[in-house]
Amino acid sequence: MTLPEVGLAAVAGAILGSFANVLIYRMPRGESIVTPASRCPRCGTPIRAADNVPLVSYLLLRGRCRSCGERIAGRYPLVEGLMAALAAAAWATQPDLLARLSALALAFLLLVITFIDLDHQLILNRLSYPGVLLGLGFAAAQGRLVPAVLAALGAGGLIAAIVILSRGGMGEGDIKLAAMIGAFLGWPGVAVALFAAFLVGGLVGVGLLALRLRRRRDAIPFGPALAAGALVALFWGERLWAWYWSLGVPGF
Ligand SMILES: [Zn+2]
Repeated sequence: MTLPEVGLAAVAGAILGSFANVLIYRMPRGESIVTPASRCPRCGTPIRAADNVPLVSYLLLRGRCRSCGERIAGRYPLVEGLMAALAAAAWATQPDLLARLSALALAFLLLVITFIDLDHQLILNRLSYPGVLLGLGFAAAQGRLVPAVLAALGAGGLIAAIVILSRGGMGEGDIKLAAMIGAFLGWPGVAVALFAAFLVGGLVGVGLLALRLRRRRDAIPFGPALAAGALVALFWGERLWAWYWSLGVPGF
């Protein structure tokens, strides 16, 4: 792994981020993800290829449509920038090509699922089911299929139990998302991911209540917390796991 390689991964990540924006906007609306070409939502002018370069075009156009001057949502460069950073991190931290591609695929799916969940409180089966299969595929190629299947079943089962017992907060989509994360991360990654997800979800929930941005009865989507937990586990999982056991927790 060299610096130019990581830079190249970031560029590829920005392009993937641009595709993620298309999926985030079109998939929940049931629109084709291939045609038509992207258009300005206000004036309908198709966006030229030269104006569709991830991150760069947004900066050159100063965040406005070239035809009508309508502001382009900051969401688009945000998603492109996040995916660029995640791709660079995947390349820099993972040990070999398979692990890097697996990390890239997981990060891409998590990004798309998170933003759709934030917009629509919906986790699409069309993303989570192929995600489970892809995660198991990578695990099989890495010779760790059985633990990955167990991690997927365990994580999905745990969230399913919470959904049944608590009635609220989490939904069916979260069960499938947790299974997908288990398939990709295996053990002990999935344990770190779930623990971090409950921590992040709890802190954000308490924060939103304290700032009066949400009331106690409002549903707060758990998908983004699961995604954040999965990223924590992807990049720091082994170190956190080793650190946790080094604490000498009473009873173990
Ligand atoms: Zn326009």
